[in-house]
Amino acid sequence: MNKEKRTEIFTRLRAENPSPETELAYDTPFELLVAVTLSAQATDKGVNKATAKLFPVANTPEAILKLGLEGLKEYIRTIGLYNSKAENIIKACEILVTKHDSEVPQTRDELTELPGVGRKTANVVLNTAFGQPTMAVDTHIFRVSNRTGIAKGKDVRQVEDRLLRLTPKEFLLDAHHWLILHGRYICTARSPKCNACLISDLCEYKEKTLD
Ligand code: SF4
Repeated sequence: MNKEKRTEIFTRLRAENPSPETELAYDTPFELLVAVTLSAQATDKGVNKATAKLFPVANTPEAILKLGLEGLKEYIRTIGLYNSKAENIIKACEILVTKHDSEVPQTRDELTELPGVGRKTANVVLNTAFGQPTMAVDTHIFRVSNRTGIAKGKDVRQVEDRLLRLTPKEFLLDAHHWLILHGRYICTARSPKCNACLISDLCEYKEKTLD
């Protein structure tokens, strides 16, 4: 795919949704960190339902530690893998309190030192809470990037690196949100909605289905 096409794709995605946001509910970087940690293999809706009850009671590392492991589990037991997620969040809170003055760190290295925080979670927090132009490549971004030809890659890391290199600067900050939303609602894994897709004429997917 050439630069002009890529620019046109992001121009259209931006025109449709000028200020894209995560669908996870959060007010502070710490809330976002907890929500993203909980969202692995869970829906944003399910996470929002749980955090709507958790955050009014505990939305700081100290408050979560005060709840304790069993107390935290009570709030998140509707979410898949809640046992290990609760353990990771408690351990992460301990590190935040002792090493980071209870603040969420703003570097990838420091974030990925926290239990349960991988590269993707760190990228989401850096981008969405701190405005850094990172690419948190999830299954949706991986699929859309490969199908359209925006950034082809055999694994998420390759797609991440190519997106960072190939996305025109003006779109870098929001690109991952546009691609996630496009993959979640239009370019779905099974039966992509090519007829309703606003970039169908630019997409290079050989199997796109247009009437
Ligand atoms: S045309 Fe189809 S395959 Fe291409 S981006 Fe749109 S929905 Fe996805």
